[in-house]
Formats: sequence, C-alpha cells, structure tokens
Amino acid sequence: MFAERLDRARARMDADGVDVLLLSVGADLPYFCGYEAMPLERITMLVVPRESEATLVVPALEAPRVIDRGDVFSLKPWTETQDPIELIARLVGPARTVAVGDHMWAGFLVDLVAACPAVTWRRASTITSPIRSVKTPDEIARLRAAGAAVDRIAARLQAGEIPLIGRTEAQVSAELGRQIVDEGHDRVNFAIVAAGENAASPHHEAGSRVIREGEGVLCDFGGTMVGDDGIGYCSDITRCVWVGDNPERDFLEAYAVLHEAQAASVRSATVGTPAQDVDRAGREKIAAAGFGGYFIHRTGHGIGVEAHEDPYIVEGNTTPLVAGNAFSIEPGIYMPGRWGMRLEDIVVAADDGPDPLNLVDHHLAVVTA
Ligand code: ZN
Ligand code: ZN
Ligand code: ZN
Repeated sequence: MFAERLDRARARMDADGVDVLLLSVGADLPYFCGYEAMPLERITMLVVPRESEATLVVPALEAPRVIDRGDVFSLKPWTETQDPIELIARLVGPARTVAVGDHMWAGFLVDLVAACPAVTWRRASTITSPIRSVKTPDEIARLRAAGAAVDRIAARLQAGEIPLIGRTEAQVSAELGRQIVDEGHDRVNFAIVAAGENAASPHHEAGSRVIREGEGVLCDFGGTMVGDDGIGYCSDITRCVWVGDNPERDFLEAYAVLHEAQAASVRSATVGTPAQDVDRAGREKIAAAGFGGYFIHRTGHGIGVEAHEDPYIVEGNTTPLVAGNAFSIEPGIYMPGRWGMRLEDIVVAADDGPDPLNLVDHHLAVVTA
C-alpha cells in the first residue's frame, strides 16, 4: 500500500518537476510511509527522491518505534551528536526543486534553506493533497465506521440519554469525549458544546455556562479511529437539540431552512460538480430565507487522515468533485447574542451519487433531560 502511494507521489513529482519530496511531522508522513513522527525538537524526515529509494531519517531513540518497511524506505537514525540537517541536505543532493511538508516546523525549514541554498521550495501539499483527497474503498470503509460511531453518540444526544439541563457545556463536552473513545476512536479531536447565545460563535470553546431549559444546544464532535496499520481516519458531525418542551418559533423556522439547505447541498454533491456549486446549493436557500448574512463560513472541508484537508467546499473552488472525495457539508446560521445552529454530515462523492456517512436524524430533536 505505502509503496503504491509513494509511486503515485513520484508520478506527480515527475509531472510537476519536483526532484525531492520531504515529509516531516503531519499527516502526510503516516499516509505515505506508515510512520507518525513525534512533534518534538528532534527532526524526523522522509526524503523521497523522484528517481531513487526513499530514506526515513529519525532520531536514534525513535528508531525502535519504526516498523521496518524495506520496500518503502531505508532507515537512517541520527544520534544526538550528529547534525540531522546536514544529513538531510546530503540526501537532497543536487536537487533543484524540493517540496516540503506544509506542517514541518518553520525552524527546521529555515535551517534547510540555509543548508540547500540552490533549491527552489514548494509546499508538499501540491503533490500530496490531490492523492490524499481521493479515497480508496478501504479508506471510505474506515471513514464510514468512524461516522457510524459518532452517529450512535448523536442518537443518544437526540434521545435525551445525555443529560443537558443543569450541566455545564464543559461537562457535556467531556462526556461526548468519553463516548467518542468508548465508541472506538483512539483520539478525541474536538467536542464543541455551545448553549444558547454561545452557539452563535461557530467554534465556541465549551465552558462554565450552565445549560438551561428553553434554549438550543449545538454539539459538533469527532475523533480519529486508528486501524491496525497505525493510520487513523477522522469523524466529524454536528447536531443541534432544543432543551425544554417548546422550541421558540424563530429557532424552529430557521432550523427548517437550515435542514433544507443542508439536504440541498448533499444532493448537489455529485461527481463532476464544482466544489463551489455544492456551497451555493445550500447557501442560496439560506439567503432566500433572509439569513444569508448569518451563514458566515464555507460549507465544508475534506476529511480523511486529517480532520480538515482538501477538497474545501467553498466559493472560488471550481475543481469538480471526483469519485472518492470525502468532505463535510455543514451550513450554519448564527444570530449574534441570541442563538446559532449548524447541521453537519460527512459525504463521499460516489459514481452513483452522494454517499452520506452520517445517517442519524437530521431534524431538531427536543429533549427534556
Ligand atoms: Zn468547524
Ligand atoms: Zn464538525
Ligand atoms: Zn467539520
């Protein structure tokens, strides 16, 4: 699998005139070689020359963690008294164009630029993103399993099985986090819980605000589910509930618009449709209802080994969707000082139409616990 992925990277390097690909901390490294670097002051680097064998440069003390994949890379540990930048520069050799991992620490890049003065630098994502954004059936199966896991949590939230009234946002967020792990994830990436007026801030940090009857609560949560090969895939879902018996009329009306808009964007997410048209499909409905100024973010982001990656579902992204793209569709309406709402599913563009990975109820649940 990894050898095949690196072959695809080399084909792109060839087409783009990139001589060497350098991958350090971040999701590219595990995706392409099965090893995840520690984000520490000692540098880890996969050096991938277009024409020759790849080398994984790791701190000697990390070497025992590396699974030997002789067909993918050879291992080069560096000891505490060696200069790893010099070692990497030697492997880069006479290369003219080098693509370097977007998430590599800036400090290391400064050192590499000084050590390789003749090199023209590019972002590695120009090579890696187009490959990572097209998921294989195995990757889609893993995303689907992660999606089903958060669906089960959302169903409990909607059924009133996760108590809300009288608890703080932070307490509910912690409970969502525990359930994310209990449902098979290895990491909690986020668990946004935003009550009442706090939900008007899309990335609200759950805090000491106590949840009361008579308000909406937005929950946006997800984690990473790691497979036997050490590579993790992400989940991400948003559902809103109304706490108390009678939802306020303006909240209900706005939610009906949001529900319809989200469904319209999902329906539009077919192979060949420009990403921006998926954004427009829902945004038009929200604007037609008079809420256009209150939908203050793009419709969605790609998802895979990272919670946010290509393709972005946003005005200006004219790239047509291809089969295997996986992304969120998450329009929202945010009324400052009053309330906010968002509805989010992960969807895969498939040859026979949009394939939503989150199937739990999309209606506004009313809970009294
Ligand atoms: Zn977000
Ligand atoms: Zn989300
Ligand atoms: Zn999202």
